[in-house]
Amino acid sequence: MDHATPTPREAAKGNDGGEFQSPALERLVRALGRLPGLGRKSATRIALELVQGGGETAAELAESVTAAREQVRTCSRCGAITEDDPCRICCSDKRDSALLCVVASPVDILPFEKAGFFQGRYFVLGRLLSPLDGVRVDDLPFDRLDARIREHDVRELILALDSSVEGEATALYIQRMIEDLDLSLTRLATGIPVGGALAYTDEATLHRAFQFRRSF
Ligand SMILES: [Zn+2]
Repeated sequence: MDHATPTPREAAKGNDGGEFQSPALERLVRALGRLPGLGRKSATRIALELVQGGGETAAELAESVTAAREQVRTCSRCGAITEDDPCRICCSDKRDSALLCVVASPVDILPFEKAGFFQGRYFVLGRLLSPLDGVRVDDLPFDRLDARIREHDVRELILALDSSVEGEATALYIQRMIEDLDLSLTRLATGIPVGGALAYTDEATLHRAFQFRRSF
């Protein structure tokens, strides 16, 4: 890099709301700024690093985004993120189909798999009921959950939903949905933080919350 060129940090610092003289760079900044959690300042810093830094990072990023978009899909049985459909967990004969763990997001499967104690299968809802935000019963895959419970002879449904208002509303709906079925409904013991933080719960806490799961 030319020594006269300001570092990305210096350049971003000097940029207080104005625009660069490069429409191409502005386009990149705007595209990055649409990503969750990135404001213009962070987007500018990343854009400059990609443009002025070593070409390897930019090339690797472009290639990995393209590859991920082509290869990543959602398991049609459980909703996990996978490259094969059905996913590895749904296909494994070492898994106990009678145990079904219901989670809000595919990310919530990761801490369970990392901890390794859970030998059942999963069902991803994708979102939680939230009438105030317009997320209603028809927006969640309850029909598929019902079919899954019946087809796979599930004996215990474990709710691993956070204890937010949305998590509670979703849990209550599932409770009513299965009340005529012969299976036990449990939920993780308290200790899981409120607000979608299941994915960031440490293994020991998660294992304890699972061991002391209670009837719902
Ligand atoms: Zn699956």
